[in-house]
Amino acid sequence: MIGKMHRLSKIFQPSLVIPKSAVIKNQDTTSKSQRLMLDQGLIRQAGNGTFYILPLLQRSLQKAVALVDFQMQQHVGAEKLTLPTLISSNLWRKSGRLELADAELMKTIDRHGKTLILGPTHEESITTLIAAISPVSYRQFPLRLYQISTKFRDEMKPRFGLMRAKEFLMKDLYTFDIDLKEAHKTYELINDTYRQLLEVIGVPYVKVRGDTGLMGGSTSHEYHFLSEVGEDQLMHCSTCGLSYNLEVLSEQKKPCERCNNKNFSKQTGIEVAHAFILEDKYSKALGARFLDQTGKPGVLQMGCYGIGITRLIAASIEVQSSETDIRWPLAIAPFKVCVIPPKEGSKEETVAGAWAEKLLHEVCKIPGLESDVLVDDRNSMTIGRRLMEAKKTGYPIVIVVGTKAASESNELFEIYNQLQETQIVLGFNETLLEIDRICHNRKKMK
Ligand SMILES: [Zn+2]
Repeated sequence: MIGKMHRLSKIFQPSLVIPKSAVIKNQDTTSKSQRLMLDQGLIRQAGNGTFYILPLLQRSLQKAVALVDFQMQQHVGAEKLTLPTLISSNLWRKSGRLELADAELMKTIDRHGKTLILGPTHEESITTLIAAISPVSYRQFPLRLYQISTKFRDEMKPRFGLMRAKEFLMKDLYTFDIDLKEAHKTYELINDTYRQLLEVIGVPYVKVRGDTGLMGGSTSHEYHFLSEVGEDQLMHCSTCGLSYNLEVLSEQKKPCERCNNKNFSKQTGIEVAHAFILEDKYSKALGARFLDQTGKPGVLQMGCYGIGITRLIAASIEVQSSETDIRWPLAIAPFKVCVIPPKEGSKEETVAGAWAEKLLHEVCKIPGLESDVLVDDRNSMTIGRRLMEAKKTGYPIVIVVGTKAASESNELFEIYNQLQETQIVLGFNETLLEIDRICHNRKKMK
């Protein structure tokens, strides 16, 4: 076999069915995605606002990380690094954010009595790194550095599972340019990259003007998935279509800055990504400088760009799933294909079982599916039961190899396309073509 096939019987997936009464009790803190993820053994609660990420969800997380890595490195030309999780509180004092953010900072004290912050964001850290080697020649810019790491926030009221937890996986990119014009070019490039990334994920999103708030700087945009559990109020200009986070407009009940209209429609969104032009707020305070062509020193212009990876996945599930069945974006589903072979001891077991083996062998050879195929080998369970569970967990493509595959003249395979909620029956070769087509988002042949 070319690819590595995975067996469901070997996957650690402890499900937890929450009684309906408990959901009602915690309605303001529980979301559909949290309930579904617990129910399907994707997460488990560890404490207030902390979660175990279980193996199936871990696969999804790794796929999201790989997608983000690709976009950052190929489109933005950014380099990946790792900044320390423990940050000296002195750095945050220098930038002026220590007192402003104090209540939400997770802190610890080392044996020498020194206060360390568990990083929620790393502007101070990266700027200190650049300052330590300053002044840097103008030839080194633009400089674009990012990391993907666990971030911490001491939430007053953690809720909605992975969407507002005390620790979460986040991509944070920091950019350095020699002037504001260049910083704005970088900003456009990264916003364009975010658009491409969100199109690959495929969940509808809105881009809105954001408030610069605690981060500081001059320009900010946020990317939201629309959802009723979203905690951001978004205002959509009914004339020109520009959208704003309510925070931007509410100060003096401002009109739309593009068309001066005052009529907005309201939506609620889950923020999954943001972009900021920070200008010189951090570089000035912490001394990140460069030398221009004439050898004169200047202060660097910065930007920062975040994507909440765990939140992106939870929000996708929140938006796309039904009350009972998870629906994943194809690109980040834990497995793309789940094959269900016949039940042990059934009439069709011998013939259909052989076809299931043959199918698995061939599916694993489809480019891009090498390690993305799961077989539900819990063959003592009926096909119906396993099919129901596969629909709940939401594998985008489920193939049933049952009685129809045991037909003497014309063996057939049932294909459940969960992305389109369709079901068709096809022969062996056509089944392989159809799986390939769905996985590569190709249009149906007429
Ligand atoms: Zn407008």
